[in-house]
Amino acid sequence: MPLLVMKFGGTSVADLARIENAAKKVQKEVERGYDVIVIVSAMSGETNKLVGYVEGTSKLYDAREYDAVVASGENVTAGLMALRLQEMGIPARSWQGWQVPIQTTAQHGSARFVDIPRANIDAKFAEGFKVAVVAGFQGISPEGRITTLGRGGSDTTAVAFAAAFGAERCDIYTDVDGVYTTDPRVSSKARKLDKIAFEEMLELASLGAKVLQTRSVELAMRYKVRLRVLSSFEDTDETSGTLVCDEEEIMESKVVSGVAFSREEAKITLFTIEDRPGVASAIFGPLADAGVNVDMIVQNISEKDYDDAHPGAVTDMTFSCPINQVERAKKAMEDAKATGLIGYDELIVDTDVAKVSVVGIGMRSHAGVAAKMFNALAAEGINIKVISTSEIKISVLIDRKYMELAVQALHDAFELEKA
Ligand code: ADP
Ligand code: ASP
Ligand code: MG
Repeated sequence: MPLLVMKFGGTSVADLARIENAAKKVQKEVERGYDVIVIVSAMSGETNKLVGYVEGTSKLYDAREYDAVVASGENVTAGLMALRLQEMGIPARSWQGWQVPIQTTAQHGSARFVDIPRANIDAKFAEGFKVAVVAGFQGISPEGRITTLGRGGSDTTAVAFAAAFGAERCDIYTDVDGVYTTDPRVSSKARKLDKIAFEEMLELASLGAKVLQTRSVELAMRYKVRLRVLSSFEDTDETSGTLVCDEEEIMESKVVSGVAFSREEAKITLFTIEDRPGVASAIFGPLADAGVNVDMIVQNISEKDYDDAHPGAVTDMTFSCPINQVERAKKAMEDAKATGLIGYDELIVDTDVAKVSVVGIGMRSHAGVAAKMFNALAAEGINIKVISTSEIKISVLIDRKYMELAVQALHDAFELEKA
């Protein structure tokens, strides 16, 4: 039997009516002759509520118990979806992660897949079941504890199942009808893309576009999964939505294909650090040990270059990290100062920042993208605090209050509304 993976996100299973609506989409595919693996998220808002319960109970919570609580939202929707399908006369069975069993690492809260053995689900299909409804976002650790994959992780569950079961396609049903040039909730000029290259989608996701979890795109790219994003609220067919695919499948490619943004950034500056060999290592070593994901880095040019004649040269170092890691970063720096590993006069945290990025594989072969980007921001009077670039993206850190304006300005400057 040909097999499809269909994933429904939180808003697509937000209540019983929406679960029924999603089930009808599954029914259509079953009637077309597919066996279907349905991956469900928790009802929208549910995971936030569960996270709130954990944080309200324990400040420095045990990550194993966080996972035990937070994974439960998906169990409810998996059971309800199986029941709804049964009501429609479709043989369906629900699966929690441990029942498959979905084997993951023991990194609670951000576990990674180790293996998805097919035997149990294959046996059910062989018995005549048409649909396996699997709770997204969860698995079990080698110790047999419940794990979760990080927020948005049901996308990754879907792609991993598509790879493990050799699915014809992995369809991600959500509350927008595809991947846009930028978040359609921020810019009314955002344009839906028919296709986007894996690498661009990977950058957009990792730079803040929440439409797909970054890891899901990585897996799809590695295992050549045909990945599609489409709306659960509209009538859809095989041509709907956005296909995430190899670069070679895309005919026309723009220099910049999308704008991403993230509000979850913070900027930390260490003032008056020594400018000598080993200082960067003495700063970023302890940050890495503390599990801080440093993103952008700038070191000011000091007045005098370090050399034997100027042993006292000083400079400032600025870096960005996720806003929820600021406390950890601060503590790592204070500890490093206390033990004499580094010296600085002042540590300043700025949490009123946002990162805005332009992404496009065309940048590899085009000059002038950075100039155009900085020009567009300057024309709006937006000051750039930190810049970082890679082969196919340019990111800037700016004041949070200008984020929407910056997204609009860049969308206009690169004419993304035009096909
Ligand atoms: P789900 O609950 O279905 O997983 P998410 O909220 O995780 O849905 O992801 C869908 C949301 O992603 C959209 O509602 C949209 O606001 C946001 N989004 C951000 N960037 C983009 C983009 N470039 N294209 C489409 N949607 C985007
Ligand atoms: N329910 C989880 C979350 O809200 C996983 C997901 O929806 O993908 O993050
Ligand atoms: Mg999501």
